[in-house]
Formats: sequence, structure tokens, C-alpha cells
Amino acid sequence: MTWLRLLLVGTVLILSCQGIKVDVDIMDNDGNIKIERYHNYQDMENVLNQLDSQSFVKKYKIGRTVADRQISAIKISGGFDALKKRPTLRPMVKYIANMHGDESVGREMLIALASYLVENYQKDERVTKLIDTTEIHLVPSLNPDGFEEVKRENGHNKDLNRNFPTWKEIGLDVEKLKEGREPETNAAIHMILDNPFVLSINFHDGAVVANYPWDDTRVKASEKSEYFLSNGVNDRTPDNDVFEDMAKLYAAKHTDMHLGQASCGTFRDGVTNGVEWYAVNGGMQDFNYLFSNCMEITLELSCVKKPEENRLQGEWKKNLEPMLSYLEYVHRAVHGIVKDSNGDPVANAKVIVEKNGKIVKATKSGEYWKLLMPGSYKIKAVGNGRESEWTDIEIVDGPGPRVDLQLTKDGENIDNIEEAESENGKVEADGLKVEIIPGFCLQFQIWQLPTWCKQSPIARSKKAQVAVPARQPVYFNWHFPIFNN
Ligand SMILES: [Zn+2]
Repeated sequence: MTWLRLLLVGTVLILSCQGIKVDVDIMDNDGNIKIERYHNYQDMENVLNQLDSQSFVKKYKIGRTVADRQISAIKISGGFDALKKRPTLRPMVKYIANMHGDESVGREMLIALASYLVENYQKDERVTKLIDTTEIHLVPSLNPDGFEEVKRENGHNKDLNRNFPTWKEIGLDVEKLKEGREPETNAAIHMILDNPFVLSINFHDGAVVANYPWDDTRVKASEKSEYFLSNGVNDRTPDNDVFEDMAKLYAAKHTDMHLGQASCGTFRDGVTNGVEWYAVNGGMQDFNYLFSNCMEITLELSCVKKPEENRLQGEWKKNLEPMLSYLEYVHRAVHGIVKDSNGDPVANAKVIVEKNGKIVKATKSGEYWKLLMPGSYKIKAVGNGRESEWTDIEIVDGPGPRVDLQLTKDGENIDNIEEAESENGKVEADGLKVEIIPGFCLQFQIWQLPTWCKQSPIARSKKAQVAVPARQPVYFNWHFPIFNN
């Protein structure tokens, strides 16, 4: 049956040379995206089902809504068996839209982006490279119930972007984290905690701006999390330079976001820190960064939350390039495998960058990614009671280097990492500092507890509760209730 085999191989070759034709109602006959109307729940499902027929695409559900609608996601990843098992060191990026049901532009952008990527795989060099090197997850609607009713909240009239756990809940197990929350929120919590995403966007409408964490005020993650050596400064995260860069990238590539002159609000360079704009407690972008390695920004695409349908094609033109560029941004990360002295991967090791306040947790296969701005750094890994040497790395304005880290020597206590960044960016000397914040509270900040204090049972129980790493300040606050905030 040699002729049959030749025919089969020939067919496969012809298919792979011609690219894949996607027959969805969001495209004209030449394969160009043409958005003429909003896709209701069933329309959206139909498009995603069609895309799912391709060998490099998988539609899956992340959960169900209050009204029992399926919350669908689509995974796009090219190469042999890549959908079954993510190739080692292939980074994961996710885009989630429409968590506020009446904010509809991002939802259409993601339906269109999924179609565009699938249509152009093996046709367009840039798209093909992206899909063959990146695992892309798109959730066009986290709140399809809200979309159908054209309202912000979900079926229980809850605002999903105020419904996520905050820094105060770090350390609770997943079941406790989920307790009393909305099904849509819990679907996202699982998606975030179960997968090693590196980069993410949360799409909204009501302004035109790229917003980066913190969204919540006075986040003291280091009091709760062993992965935070510092909390950042002035409502900025320890990775503020990278977050700002991510936001600026999207804004700069967008036709008019970078101008920051939309009628509904002006923003310098089209970006803002969350708290500086307005504080959000229980938002999704803070949750990503607090509880996982994933770095998420929140994008507001349009002043009008559900513009006329004839505006959607224009929105697509504005957002295609920034959506592609942001997906590509993940490849700037320094990345590699943490290995033991035999060269075997070590699961869940900690990867530390000198003078950076956020530790990254490696995957079960030892993989890690860390986004950094161009410059010189030292990096090391700690795991299984052992650690690697500090390794010098150079980050350039382009693809990040691969740096494998081998745990070759006995580890020191991770709490004693000397280079831990302090609140003001410098290593503080041990000592006692008394701060008086007018009208609000009296705050004692102690870097090293005196002996008499360490021996007191109250101090011991307080220290155990907050699990403060060494050289992190311990705060004792006496708040006088002048304002509620
Ligand atoms: Zn919103």
C-alpha cells in the first residue's frame, strides 16, 4: 500500500503548506477579521467550537456560571503533541475579558484574536512563530451571564473584580480561599493557581488606559508570603519597573491609548498605577501577582462600555498589534531549569534575583521564568535544602537568556538572603524606628527584636502568626479610628 501512504503524506504536506482555512462568521472570504456585530453566548460558543477543530487548538471549560453557562477558554499551542503536554520551557500567557458583563469590547477582541491566530497559523511567519513557541489561553468572557443581561455584575449581582482573595488571605489552602466566593471567581482562581502562567491581561472598558498593580492600598504581602521579600514602595510592587514597561508597551502599540487623551479621562503615556487612579480591594490583577508568578495588567479599551457595533472593527485595528506584541513580551523573560547535582530537574524550587523583592516558584518540572528590565543581575535557586551559586546574567532589550541553575551546595536559610530589598530600596541596618503618622496611627518599626521582647510569649506568638522573614521590618500599629478607609 505504498501509493496510499504517499497520498496521505502528500495531503498532509499540502495542508501544512497552505495554512488552515477557518470558516467562522468573524472573517471575510480572504481570511481577514471582519467584526460586524456582537457575539452573544451561543455565537461565541459556535466560533470557539469551530476553532477547536484545528489540531493545535483546544477549547475547554474553566467552570460554570451562576446561570449554569459554561465559561469557555481556548488554548492555542503549535507543534507535535504540544496540546497534550506543554513542551518544556514553553511559556504560558492568558488573556481574560468581560468579567464585567457590560464591558464588551475586550470580549469581541479575544474572539477575533483567537480566530486571527488560528487562521494565520502556518501562513504568517510572526503568528506561526508565536504559536509554536507560546502556550496561549484566551477566555473571551468570564461573566457570560452579565453579558447576556448587559450588566456589570454576575448572576448574584456581585462585582467579580472585588471578589478575589487579598494579601490578607495568603497562606490559606485553596478550599478556604474559595469559600463564599462566586463560581466565576473560583473558576479564575483555579485557572491561575493550577497553571504556571507568566503573563496576563484582564480586559475592561469605561476608560482608555493600561493599569498596573497594586490596585489595593497598603499591601503588605511580605508579612504573609515567603515569596515576597519586600512589598514595594508607595503602592507599587517590587516588580514595578517591569509592570510599568508592560503597560507602556500595550499603550504605545495601541493607536491612541498612549496619547492618554480619551474624552473619559487623561493619563500620562496612557498608563496608570492602580491605587493612583482608584483603589480596588479583591481585584484579579493583584490576586495573580500575590498568589502566583503571573504578572497581570488591567486594560480599559473604550470609554463606552458597549459601543455601537460599527465601532468594533475600528477597535480591532487599534488592538491587534498591542495584543500580539504583549504575547511576544513573555519571551523577554530569563528562563531555565533548576536542577540537582545529578542534573535532574527539581520541583518547586525558589528562584531569587538579587535586589528583587519577589521570589519566583519553579514548576514541577523545574522550569522558571522571570521578567526583568534590561541590565545586569545576579540570580540563584534554592530548593531541597540546597542552593545554587549566584549566577551573573545580562538582560538585553530582546529575547531573555536561558540560565539553568544547579543546586550544588548546602543551602542557607532563605530568610537570611542579605540582598533582600527593603521598603525604601536599600538594605536597612538593624535598629528601631518610631514613626508618627499624623492623625492616623503610631507605628513602631523594628528590624531586630530585642532579647526581652523575643522571650515574651506574646511576641513569639505574633512572630509565628505573621511568619516575618529576617530583615523584614515588623510593624506594631496602634490605630486611632478617625477615618474609615
Ligand atoms: Zn470593568
